[in-house]
Amino acid sequence: MSAYHKVTKDIVEELKQIVGDKHVIFDDEEKMEEYSHDEVAEVKFHGMPEVVVKPNRTEEISAIMKLANRENIPVTPQGAKSGLSGGGVAAIGGILLNVERMNRILEIDKANMMAVAEPGIITNDFSAEVQKEGLFFAGYPMSLLTCYLGGNVAENAGGGKAIKYGVTGRYIIGLEVVLPSGEIAFFGGKRVKDVTGYNMVQLMVGSEGTLGIFTKIIVKLIPLPKAKIDMMVLFEDLQTAIDVVPKIMTEVGVIPTGIEFMDQLTLETCCKHLGQNPDQYKNAGAFLIIEVDGNDEEQVLNECLDIGDLCTDNGAIDAFVAQTPADQEKIWALRRNAAEAFKAISPRQSLEDIVVPMSTIPRVLPILRDLSKKHEVFIPCYGHAGDGNLHATVIKNPDHTDEHWQDLLPKVLTDLYSEIYKLGGTISGEHGVGSKLKQYLPLVLGKTEIESMKSIKRALDPNNILNPGKIFDM
Ligand SMILES: Cc1cc2nc3c(=O)[nH]c(=O)nc-3n(C[C@H](O)[C@H](O)[C@H](O)COP(=O)(O)OP(=O)(O)OC[C@H]3O[C@@H](n4cnc5c(N)ncnc54)[C@H](O)[C@@H]3O)c2cc1C
Repeated sequence: MSAYHKVTKDIVEELKQIVGDKHVIFDDEEKMEEYSHDEVAEVKFHGMPEVVVKPNRTEEISAIMKLANRENIPVTPQGAKSGLSGGGVAAIGGILLNVERMNRILEIDKANMMAVAEPGIITNDFSAEVQKEGLFFAGYPMSLLTCYLGGNVAENAGGGKAIKYGVTGRYIIGLEVVLPSGEIAFFGGKRVKDVTGYNMVQLMVGSEGTLGIFTKIIVKLIPLPKAKIDMMVLFEDLQTAIDVVPKIMTEVGVIPTGIEFMDQLTLETCCKHLGQNPDQYKNAGAFLIIEVDGNDEEQVLNECLDIGDLCTDNGAIDAFVAQTPADQEKIWALRRNAAEAFKAISPRQSLEDIVVPMSTIPRVLPILRDLSKKHEVFIPCYGHAGDGNLHATVIKNPDHTDEHWQDLLPKVLTDLYSEIYKLGGTISGEHGVGSKLKQYLPLVLGKTEIESMKSIKRALDPNNILNPGKIFDM
């Protein structure tokens, strides 16, 4: 890593010529600070770039990558910095390439039910625009009000609707990519079927900014569902709530759009953070947010009623139905703000992203309880119960010193990941490995698997210029 060259004033001049003076930040730590971290709380995963560049066109990114290869300088692509694995952080300095200016929707192609967009568009803005045409982008990361479409593709973002609609990659069918060499490639296209060679689109999806920089994204859309109902179901304890989740699908026979869960501590913390009164939720010990959508209002309502009955038969103490957009937003705001709410009360925490086969979800809770007891830390839990992706959050015990916490956290995580692996699970369902999880990769992937990934990286990026040190060290 030390073989990389530093960014000199001459290189900054060249960068300015490529993107324009206004779009380069150099020698100004105050301005660069906002680009030095994503949403990972731990400071050791933050990193100050040597220079920030904000290109506006594919050709500019191509020129930057060619310059970086010539001068042997690392480049880190960055979107909205909402990432939770440190992937978009210039961990070892070099050039930080932020795509915030590339935020246009280039086309909404109604006849083909597709849209072409640049990577810097905010996901929610993209969704809102296609909805105006009666079309639906099913990506719904809880950060959708801030994160970018390009970041979603790079992380293969999941979110609140993955159980019914799948994750981002399912909707990405074409990508313009600047390769690490600076060459421009177009993989895929507006074709629903395409087996002409390797599926490079899906190799790029989830590559965490290590294999190429996306500059145009073709998104497959579906018709916008006409009806949607959200429910909040209250349970005495988390185990009872979690136990009911697989039954919703197997016994009622409905795949909801989303099934999110929160434990009591999460709900209280979110209520406090948003100024909502937690008493309205009757001191319940656990909560499911269930969304059902479809085209027939009556059918959606009936499905919700069936799910409500099943929950009541299986220990639910109450259920609220939210039919108006305002009530729906009130419920979802609680869930969307969980990560932020915990970060506000304790910056010494690690937001986890474990994922297990759905049927084993109930077995995760005793593991968390045991680890919490063994290591004397708090591990509140919330997440996407419907797809097995649980955001357990390890929070420092206020009685412990910071030094103890630094020493303890890797032990807690090693224990947690080892147990999750035994259930057939893995360490990240949607946040990616980045720099945060890379030391734990060998716990869940063998040498052959990691070496195969490294061969792909070597083939596309022989100089290891693009986002080095993410996912694994070369
Ligand atoms: C409150 C909160 C809730 C969240 N909820 C969810 C959730 O429900 N589901 C979920 O999946 N994630 C969630 N996240 C994580 C995060 O929002 C997603 O990973 C998101 O996709 C990151 O997008 P971004 O634009 O912020 O990317 P960044 O954080 O800036 O970067 C993420 C990665 O993408 C790469 N990258 C960015 N742009 C490009 C590009 N144009 N080309 C190539 N690589 C690029 C970066 O190098 C980096 O590796 C949440 C985060 C927060 C803070």
